[in-house]
Amino acid sequence: MPLDKYKAKRNFTKTPEPAGSGEMERRAAKKKSELFFCVQKHLASHLHYDFRLEHNGVLLSWAVPKGPSLDPATKRLAMQVEDHPIEYGDFEGVIPEGYGAGIVMLWDRGTWAPEVDDVDAALKKGDLKFSLDGYKLKGSWVLVRTKSPAYAAGRSWLLIKHRDDWSGDVDITEFAPRSVKSDGDLADILAADTPAIWKSNRPAKGGASGAMLNEIIEKAAAIKGGTAGSAAKSAKPASVGKAPRPRPSQRSRFARASQIANARRRL
Ligand code: MN
Repeated sequence: MPLDKYKAKRNFTKTPEPAGSGEMERRAAKKKSELFFCVQKHLASHLHYDFRLEHNGVLLSWAVPKGPSLDPATKRLAMQVEDHPIEYGDFEGVIPEGYGAGIVMLWDRGTWAPEVDDVDAALKKGDLKFSLDGYKLKGSWVLVRTKSPAYAAGRSWLLIKHRDDWSGDVDITEFAPRSVKSDGDLADILAADTPAIWKSNRPAKGGASGAMLNEIIEKAAAIKGGTAGSAAKSAKPASVGKAPRPRPSQRSRFARASQIANARRRL
């Protein structure tokens, strides 16, 4: 069963992550048209971006430590992880404990289309060309499996942007850091839950991720507390929960950024 690994790693009485009902798998078997993709920014023991493509009723998933790059010269390591249920593609929130404990933001979503006839054959071969139509990521991309060390046998891929109207030298993770679901940042998402959830056992401790989490926890507490402190003032109002749809203007803003980058490159 495709979701066995996903289910084995989680205790669904303790995590808000979707268990996957099988309903979406059955539905996917019938339809062949629009395929879903998403990218979830996940601050767990380390910050990474989970890149997910709908295929055969599940989300094929890769963890991309540095996140996608719009620059075709920048190949991003993508470690294939267990398939996730389709329902996961809408998930944003806080995983309090266990596998993946941390904060999940729905960073991008949209549809994808393979640029090959046979996705399974392409995956087997380790060379999957496809196009994305998200809010932040668009155009042609490729996932290429690399020769990986034994511990990562067969799971190590590179995510690479092809040169097109949507490539450029904008750092998209910096330029568009917020949620496409709630428009919140990681602190807003934590504030909508329980900022003090990791009083003792924080998912990220040392290093850059630990420092980032400390900052986010403080900011989330200030947002939730509604204090007039500087952290609360500098934070955007927590819009999590209202889940406004991404504004159409966002689309053109990202599009423009890409076009500017292209124009600059051609000069
Ligand atoms: Mn993850």
